[in-house]
Amino acid sequence: MPTVVAVPEPEHLTPHDLVTYFRCPHEMELHRARRRLLPGDTALEVRTPADVVPLRHSPLFPPPLGHPEVYDGPFDVFPGDTLVYEDPTERGLPVLFAPEAVRLDPRYRSPPGTLVDRELGFAGRPDLVIQRASGEILPVEYKSTHLYVGYHESHGRAFDTLQAVAECRLVEVAFGRRPRHGVILYGDAAGEGAHEGWVEIPYAEAEASWLRAALRQIRSDPVRAPVPVERNCAACEPNAEGLCRFAAARYEGPHRPAAPPGAVAVPAR
Ligand code: SF4
Repeated sequence: MPTVVAVPEPEHLTPHDLVTYFRCPHEMELHRARRRLLPGDTALEVRTPADVVPLRHSPLFPPPLGHPEVYDGPFDVFPGDTLVYEDPTERGLPVLFAPEAVRLDPRYRSPPGTLVDRELGFAGRPDLVIQRASGEILPVEYKSTHLYVGYHESHGRAFDTLQAVAECRLVEVAFGRRPRHGVILYGDAAGEGAHEGWVEIPYAEAEASWLRAALRQIRSDPVRAPVPVERNCAACEPNAEGLCRFAAARYEGPHRPAAPPGAVAVPAR
């Protein structure tokens, strides 16, 4: 009788994991440990050892930065375009479509509405998915910020790119068609819309390969080291909760998320 060996499931990852790992692997580890807390738990078991050597940069190599197209002004919606997905857990998303052009896919209409990629062990929720009249499909990630704040720095472009690539892959799996690009929509309507704009980020074979390699790298990282860079630490939610021992700056974000009562991070030995 042959022995049946159970193959372990790959660690489940999300676009948020990808973004936080790219900023600071330890931040990703703290977020994930926080999500695993059971009622009554106060200790976050993280894989980062207490004697870890902090890094100057994330070990994740950046996505291909390709040739994103940058557009000023309100996002273009044309006759025949339809909205086929909207994150059912998100509030405050922009209303881009008239009611008759909203045809949400019933598989994802109710919470949690998560798009799941079983092959890569990856899942998440774009803000919107649009189907153009031509049949082309594309994910849209909405940000309430200004198009040009940091966009032309390679740092900001890399964050946009990896988020758009991750969402394109999820849309490809969920809807059975490969998007040619993903959209990051900047909705800062100040100055009568003068600050609005969007960026189309290509999704082709190079980007899809990068995503597979990035997920492999995250899963094989035994340490998830901190990258204590002031700019990152000042916006880091686990830092706002006093969970990071390596922070290079105080949290300066717009709000302080509620910390699990008495939570403390317990490093690996
Ligand atoms: S405070 Fe800084 S070093 Fe610590 S997890 Fe956050 S980004 Fe990383």
